[in-house]
Amino acid sequence: MKNEMKTVESSGPKHVVIVGGGGFAGINAARTLGNQKGVRVTIVDQRNHHLFQPLLYQVALAALSPADIASPIRTVLSDTKNVEVFMGNVENVDLKKREVQFGGDGHLNYDYLVMACGASHSYFGRDDWESFAPGLKSVEEATEIRRRVLMAFELAEREPDPELRKQYLTFVIIGGGPTGVELAGAIGEITRYTLTRDFRNIDPRLTRIILIEAGPRILAGFHEDLSAKAARGLEKLGVTIWSNTRVTDVRPDGVMCGSERVQESIQARTVLWAAGVRPSALNAKLEQSAGLELGPGGRIKIDPDLSVPGFPEVFVLGDQANFTHYGIPTLPGLAPVAIQMGRHAAKNILRDIRNKQRAEFHYADKGSMATIGRADAVVQTKLLHFGGLTAWLAWLFVHIFYLIGFKNRLLVFIQWFWSYMTLGRGARLITSRNWKPERRVDMASRYEQAFHRAMATRKKAVASKKKQKAAAAKKKKKAAAKGRSATRK
Ligand SMILES: Cc1cc2nc3c(=O)[nH]c(=O)nc-3n(C[C@H](O)[C@H](O)[C@H](O)COP(=O)(O)OP(=O)(O)OC[C@H]3O[C@@H](n4cnc5c(N)ncnc54)[C@H](O)[C@@H]3O)c2cc1C
Repeated sequence: MKNEMKTVESSGPKHVVIVGGGGFAGINAARTLGNQKGVRVTIVDQRNHHLFQPLLYQVALAALSPADIASPIRTVLSDTKNVEVFMGNVENVDLKKREVQFGGDGHLNYDYLVMACGASHSYFGRDDWESFAPGLKSVEEATEIRRRVLMAFELAEREPDPELRKQYLTFVIIGGGPTGVELAGAIGEITRYTLTRDFRNIDPRLTRIILIEAGPRILAGFHEDLSAKAARGLEKLGVTIWSNTRVTDVRPDGVMCGSERVQESIQARTVLWAAGVRPSALNAKLEQSAGLELGPGGRIKIDPDLSVPGFPEVFVLGDQANFTHYGIPTLPGLAPVAIQMGRHAAKNILRDIRNKQRAEFHYADKGSMATIGRADAVVQTKLLHFGGLTAWLAWLFVHIFYLIGFKNRLLVFIQWFWSYMTLGRGARLITSRNWKPERRVDMASRYEQAFHRAMATRKKAVASKKKQKAAAAKKKKKAAAKGRSATRK
């Protein structure tokens, strides 16, 4: 494969490149191709903004506002004259016709395709859990989590029944990876520092925060002593870690967990999901329509130059891709992987156009990090691993450095500095999920109504299942009785 030449014919005077997805991989591919001779680029994204997902939990827990970590894709690419931006949902790709289908009848033909549509949540076959336990992937989900967390305190404050109040003040986070740890730590911080003086009937410090992890330890991808350090840091913030615990059901009023034989229920009104991701649904479509091979977890297997075997004009990147070469395990779903892949795929397209040989991709691993709370984080690189304040400062500067746009960097830095000094959180707004014109909405009672509706639906489902079971048992009994009487005869 090394230094192989792949020729892709151009359909016009310039090579047309379609980039699907304006996340880390897509935006970096488009920027690298920007203002380059011989290419015309169209980037298609279902949203109008590029989102810095590593800081989403800060929006979910009211430390930052959505606009601090998201930038319009148009603005990001405004100085690249050969790049146009289309807002649309890539629904399918016909690899043989070289055609991208998006939003209704829209379609675009390409000479090169860069697929970078990322991943979504995986509920391990239980998609019905999503409404009770939202995950964190988009601005909408972050503001929904913010609404649920802040609303729980509001409802607890006015709730006379101590049992119900306890339910409001119990938060369950499922999944002990970096996102789960960051969410749990941030809820801990809110309850320990931010809200302590704001309520009269409840003491936010008595809030229960439970972090459930199926494996033996949190932050499994990190060194064991960092994971132990993170656990100690979380415990200081009031987080209880339940490791080796599997969630078996998620309901509007809490979760069930344990094994088949021993089940335990946690009554909680706020449950958050951070347990798993799966690549874009386009992967399964492409497996079916074009026979692309999927690796573990459903990611598309790609060649060392990042193109798809059999389709040298198609590149699949970031969270959608399965890259396993030179004996390394699959590259993880991380922003630096996607960024480096985006730049590399674009450079390979330019190499093709300039009749040069394509280069193989080599990931430069700069390490991983996760925050635990205020002035506490863990950092792991190839050579060293450490935690505490130094790690937190490193985390802070890396995240500010990678944020797109000078304005965002400055705003985030000022807000963090302010929150650090005052222990406050500026974005503690409860916003409505469904805006309706000219209708006054009592959000608290709507939350309650939604809860009762969800409970009623669940009750109905359980009753109907019971009825079905009873009918089946009756039928079986009848059939058995019939069989017995026939034998007697
Ligand atoms: C909460 C959270 C925290 C994280 N923290 C870290 C961290 O600390 N460090 C780290 O390195 N990584 C972190 N990650 C992982 C990192 O964000 C991802 O690995 C990275 O975003 C992958 O980049 P991507 O370009 O493949 O996909 P994405 O960045 O997810 O971009 C995909 C883009 O495609 C668009 N899209 C999706 N489907 C379609 C479609 N059908 N049509 C059109 N557009 C579509 C989306 O709108 C999006 O803009 C985190 C992820 C999350 C969710």
